[in-house]
Amino acid sequence: MKDNVITDDTRIKASIKTIKYALDNNASVIILSHLGKVKEESDKIKNNLYPVSIRLSELLNTKVIFQETTRSDELTNIASNLKPKEVLLIQNTRYEDVPNKLESSCDLELAKYWASLGDIFINDAYGTLHRAHASNVGISKFLPNGIGFLVQDEITKIDSIVNDNSHPYIVIMGGAKVSDKIKIIENLITKCDKLLIGGGMAYTFLKSQGYNIGTSLCDEDSITFCKDILNKYSNKIVLPVDSITSKSIENASYEVKNIHNFDNDDIGLDIGPETIKLFFDNLKDAKRVIINGPMGMFENNNYANGTKEIYNFLINNNIKTLVGGGDSVSAVNKLSDPSKFYHISTGGGATLEYLEGKTLPGISAINDK
Ligand code: AMP
Repeated sequence: MKDNVITDDTRIKASIKTIKYALDNNASVIILSHLGKVKEESDKIKNNLYPVSIRLSELLNTKVIFQETTRSDELTNIASNLKPKEVLLIQNTRYEDVPNKLESSCDLELAKYWASLGDIFINDAYGTLHRAHASNVGISKFLPNGIGFLVQDEITKIDSIVNDNSHPYIVIMGGAKVSDKIKIIENLITKCDKLLIGGGMAYTFLKSQGYNIGTSLCDEDSITFCKDILNKYSNKIVLPVDSITSKSIENASYEVKNIHNFDNDDIGLDIGPETIKLFFDNLKDAKRVIINGPMGMFENNNYANGTKEIYNFLINNNIKTLVGGGDSVSAVNKLSDPSKFYHISTGGGATLEYLEGKTLPGISAINDK
């Protein structure tokens, strides 16, 4: 969402199958959803779910009743009068976080209220499985429950990539910060054959090896981690050898620079052509790939090429690829053909935590998996 306009409806579309199934079976459907983080009153405006009710209504081809509140007599009343095949979307559950964090602290009174509106709880909120909130973990304590098709599909496909025994198995990591990805790197490096690192996070790795990275993104607190993991897995980790650099992000001019030749005021904003070749070389025989995060600042077309080339190499060579975590969905939609990938995960944090090897509370709470 940007300024209350939906910029990417992938996640709404991904929720349709379960909702349709329930409607086709004459259920009345009450939908609860997170949208963004609501930490203070002013965050509510940009995280209002109303625009989602409009899009949902178009996709379902049926009226979607939108209820402005997350808890009220009016809501109770509408919910209890809902007829079979009618759909009700409740305002963003995160509104309950102001002022007392009732949603994110899994307040059981709140969960009990939401549970009182329905007969069965289906958790299809894949993107929040890593959170123990009132609207997913809490509510499941009070109603018969199960998972929806989206959650089933995500978990099945991710398991199929992670537990497949075919090799070479290549992990590609990109995006902004190393610190967000330390646990996933630690877990996957022991299992994969190669870890290719691009995006902003590559510069912290390069700096840990003594390279001058100019004013590229750097995560100072993660330098020791980078140094240690590079020492331990020097045969597995592949770093960029060149970059597309600029003197400022706003500046339209850019150039290709070998990683040895950075000036103090250079910013690395994408992987360069030699790195793309190097990554292709490492990917050419790959049997399965996990790619997490973009190779550059893809939102700017000048720095989108690295991510685009890698995505297209993966689909053109029919490599079984899981794209997941962070901003990957919008990067794939912008730069490649989402239908050609084995799986594009709709969850950022949930996929990361699942790939870290953690148990997801939203799944553990469900009886019928
Ligand atoms: P993440 O959520 O960690 O996957 O990070 C995604 C973000 O990383 C995107 O918004 C990119 O613009 C940003 N990013 C990728 N490469 C770079 C780079 N070289 N410098 C700055 N930001 C980058």
